[in-house]
Amino acid sequence: MAMRFCILGSGSSGNAALLVTEGARVLVDAGFSARKLGTLLAAAGESLEKIDAVFLTHEHGDHSAGIDGLKKFPHIRLFANQATARMVQAGLGHRPDWQIFETGARFRFRDLEVESFAVPHDAQEPVGFRFTSGRDGDLFAPRRSLAWLTDLGHAPQNVRECIRECEVVVVEANHCPELLRADPKRPWSLKQRISGRHGHLSNDAARELLADVASPRWRRVYLTHLSRDCNSPAAVDLALAGVRAALGACEFAIVGPGEGTPFYELV
Ligand SMILES: [Zn+2]
Ligand SMILES: [Zn+2]
Repeated sequence: MAMRFCILGSGSSGNAALLVTEGARVLVDAGFSARKLGTLLAAAGESLEKIDAVFLTHEHGDHSAGIDGLKKFPHIRLFANQATARMVQAGLGHRPDWQIFETGARFRFRDLEVESFAVPHDAQEPVGFRFTSGRDGDLFAPRRSLAWLTDLGHAPQNVRECIRECEVVVVEANHCPELLRADPKRPWSLKQRISGRHGHLSNDAARELLADVASPRWRRVYLTHLSRDCNSPAAVDLALAGVRAALGACEFAIVGPGEGTPFYELV
């Protein structure tokens, strides 16, 4: 088995996922309190004691809220670029074991190859990730990649290239444009920010991205970070109908707001 992956929770109330390889157990983002992360991990048969590292995409609370509580787990290394680390550190009473990377650089953590890439979003220096593990030709641990792509207003070419060479893609489908427009709770300025070039991908933007890249390597695509008020799994499903047919062999997992997923084993 190359890797196992599950989403612990997704949406504006918090985002975190667990990636397990032969040699590493890492979280992608930690947008829940440490207590809640512990509960979510326990439901997956895991625990914070066993987590080796957290990879942070950006400083927004729905991705970093758990960092403060992780002080009780000082063995966990915290990977982020300088700008994100500085923003998160400003809100902490302790100094975690920061592992600073340069956006765009490739590096190794145990048996994981990690690549970060810049994404357009209203944060200091937000990134997406591509994690690769395994070896070409190895029957038991073949080389496999997973791309993580949430919180971006649009998908530039570098992002499209990065998700092409992956077996698993996690991409946001944040809002349905009609539901966002009709939402009575959000002021116009916030709606502009969400739907802007540095906001979040709409269902239509996610469909356009998937249809444009449509890689034959994809085995599973997760649609995540759904807005509770301005989206629904049914709206995502409807928006994606065309691209699903074009990617017949690929599984789609639409992750409802506040929900997680069972483990997916990537062999
Ligand atoms: Zn977010
Ligand atoms: Zn964000």
